[in-house]
Amino acid sequence: MTASRRSFLVLSLGASASLALSRFSAADGAELSESDPAAQKLGYKQDASTVDKAKFTNYSAGQECSTCSLYQGKTGEPLGGCTLFGTKLVAEHGWCSSYSNF
Ligand code: SF4
Repeated sequence: MTASRRSFLVLSLGASASLALSRFSAADGAELSESDPAAQKLGYKQDASTVDKAKFTNYSAGQECSTCSLYQGKTGEPLGGCTLFGTKLVAEHGWCSSYSNF
């Protein structure tokens, strides 16, 4: 095997491994539970329509994770990442008091 062919194989394997690891870091999380202490702190609900509107007066009808600037999920998928909750996944139709739409 020539040196250039060996270098190509090493670089290809390295790139493939990096791609695989980056996919894991984005999608290996479990669904965030409403009982999770971090979720409770921010009033997270898996269904935005069940938000305690008296307690979280910043909630407005129609707000949900899928329209939040911190949501990292893909359109149409029921769960996605959120920059606030690490590798845990939040519900597309969920909500928490850190909702932002900037
Ligand atoms: S910060 Fe946004 S995406 Fe994350 S849980 Fe709260 S509302 Fe949903």
